Amino acid sequence: MKIFMITDMEGVAGVVSFVDQSYPDGRYYDAGKRLVTGEVNAAIDGLLAAGVEETLVWDGHGAGAIDFEELHPKALLLHGRPSPLWSRLQEVIRRYDACVIVGQHAMAGVATSNQNHTQNSHTVDAYRLNGKLIGEIGQLALFMGGLGLPLLFLSGERDACREAEDLVSGITTVAVKEGLGRGSAISLSAQTARQRIRQGIATAVAQHRQNPIAPLIWPGPYLLEKRFFFTDTADAEMTKPGADRVNAQVVRFRSDNILDIVYR
Ligand SMILES: [Zn+2]
Repeated sequence: MKIFMITDMEGVAGVVSFVDQSYPDGRYYDAGKRLVTGEVNAAIDGLLAAGVEETLVWDGHGAGAIDFEELHPKALLLHGRPSPLWSRLQEVIRRYDACVIVGQHAMAGVATSNQNHTQNSHTVDAYRLNGKLIGEIGQLALFMGGLGLPLLFLSGERDACREAEDLVSGITTVAVKEGLGRGSAISLSAQTARQRIRQGIATAVAQHRQNPIAPLIWPGPYLLEKRFFFTDTADAEMTKPGADRVNAQVVRFRSDNILDIVYR
């Protein structure tokens, strides 16, 4: 089995602050990257223990959050911004059998979720796809589902685990942090978080072998509504092809292809 792993930063134990840790000019950004990398490495250990042959790690945090020198010797790393052309990225993803997420936060607007946001923490208020609110987990699970990959595992903040369980039946989750608000949380120690991730992800692979998880697919056609905090961001969004203004803060897109719409 070959696994595609997507990582984020705000759902990692010990990473609690946008300003100090998650933004690249934060005073503890490098320390935050080491925490992310520790959880990623634990996940790779768990995958190896479960017999996975290859893992490609996609550093999904905006400015990058993997400490390359500290990365597990068996990992491959997909990194760099801007992200590759979608068509090229899709070719790479299709080489893998299933995907997993490490370090995830919940969607924008979940009051108890530490560092909750969807894509851009400064501009996006909400994403709604076919009437249902989604965050980065929904986007990713549907994108991967469109490429034939099921989502087997997620580790991160507790509300992110709930969000994943609501989307994907049979998914294994590991909560490493309980959010108390956008700026606060109760974290497990780094060691305990890593131990639980190692065990949880190995269990996820074993369970998937016994009882396969299906790729997440919602029936089309698709209607995506993006709500922004500010009207000028909605103005800028109107320059994208197919954009349709719903009101001052909401812009809408339509497509029959999930791969074309879920990351608009
Ligand atoms: Zn994120």
